[in-house]
Amino acid sequence: MTGRTTPVLLHNGLLIDGRGGEPVANGAVLIEEGLVRWAGPSGELSAHPALSAPARRIDVRGDTILPGFIDCHVHMAAPGGALSHAEIAAMPLSLRTFLAAPRMKLTLDAGVTTARDLGGADAGHREAVESGLLAGPRLLVAIAMLSPTGGHGDFRAANDDGENDPAMGRLADGLTECRKAVRGVLRQGADWVKIAATGGVWSPTDQPGDDGFLEDEIRTITEIAAGHGGKKVAAHAQGRSGILNAVRGGVASVEHGYEIDDQAIDLMLERGTFLVPTLTTANTDPDPQKAASWAYAKKKHWQSVARTHIPHAIARGVRVAMGTDCGIAEHGTNLREPAYLVDCGMTPMGAIRAGTSEAAELLGLAHEIGTLEAGKRADVVVARCDPLADITALGEPANIRLVMKDGVAFKDLDGLLA
Ligand SMILES: [Zn+2]
Repeated sequence: MTGRTTPVLLHNGLLIDGRGGEPVANGAVLIEEGLVRWAGPSGELSAHPALSAPARRIDVRGDTILPGFIDCHVHMAAPGGALSHAEIAAMPLSLRTFLAAPRMKLTLDAGVTTARDLGGADAGHREAVESGLLAGPRLLVAIAMLSPTGGHGDFRAANDDGENDPAMGRLADGLTECRKAVRGVLRQGADWVKIAATGGVWSPTDQPGDDGFLEDEIRTITEIAAGHGGKKVAAHAQGRSGILNAVRGGVASVEHGYEIDDQAIDLMLERGTFLVPTLTTANTDPDPQKAASWAYAKKKHWQSVARTHIPHAIARGVRVAMGTDCGIAEHGTNLREPAYLVDCGMTPMGAIRAGTSEAAELLGLAHEIGTLEAGKRADVVVARCDPLADITALGEPANIRLVMKDGVAFKDLDGLLA
């Protein structure tokens, strides 16, 4: 694109700006040069100096205007439940990458304009989107999960002493190896560092209640990441002991957090640690035909653990950012997560904040994205529903009429901007 483009005015919609205040019944958003120039009640705009240039007026009566959503936990390199880790590991790397392209578009079409990929996608995925080569959400990548031997990033069978697939997990034990592993992913362009603070469901030789890295290993990793431009660490942490190790070690977000208890909640409230409960994957039933029997049993047990512990953490006011684990769950179902958060006790507005302004806070991008306010990037979703009346409607991609990222329409079901 060259030169100045005509500003676009979305008006007559229910405006939910992501900040959590009252929605505006007849709201408008003025978009110019990739940025939000103004957002508020339509009636206040006519007299406003922001509307100096003539704008294309798009009437979105009956729809809701929202900020583009932010999914803090995806895996673009994973298929969404249809393949085993062994099958993925057997694939040429180039094929894994090509397969990620349509998943990125599905995610964007679901209404997600920014996503944090917590393992499997390298910096090239981010750059392909940034350069305009691929249509997808703006990506922050962790490249590969760091894990102790036999931990959640170790996908080798017990009798296999060969190399672990480095795209799936980088194994490290002790402070020296942890230093090397974190420097390795930072060298490859990681925006975030992902660690295994507990075992998990799909790793063959551990349990979600097992400890992963210990507190001193985690602290070493968070310190090194912090010393590289203030980068932060996300911890896969399901059992209570590993959740505590992760929080004490200084991670910014506890991923899953299924067995979170009051001790961890107190510490997280004190430190401002976020919980990313990934209820989309927690609510995905494993396929008994495809899942190994050991994985099936783990998944069923830890689903019920999550259902008892997560609502308590939400009731106590732990900061929650939206993340789905799509890649393990089906791609493109990202905006089912707000309804799951509501099932766990959040208000619909709270769940929308978790997927917009709160997620932006976790990612350190609150100055750029997460709300519809003057000066923010024009990441905008128009939904054919009132999510405050029916939050589940957001999770149906057919209801997502328009998705704009940086002011460019990537999905426009009804040709509003055609
Ligand atoms: Zn994950």
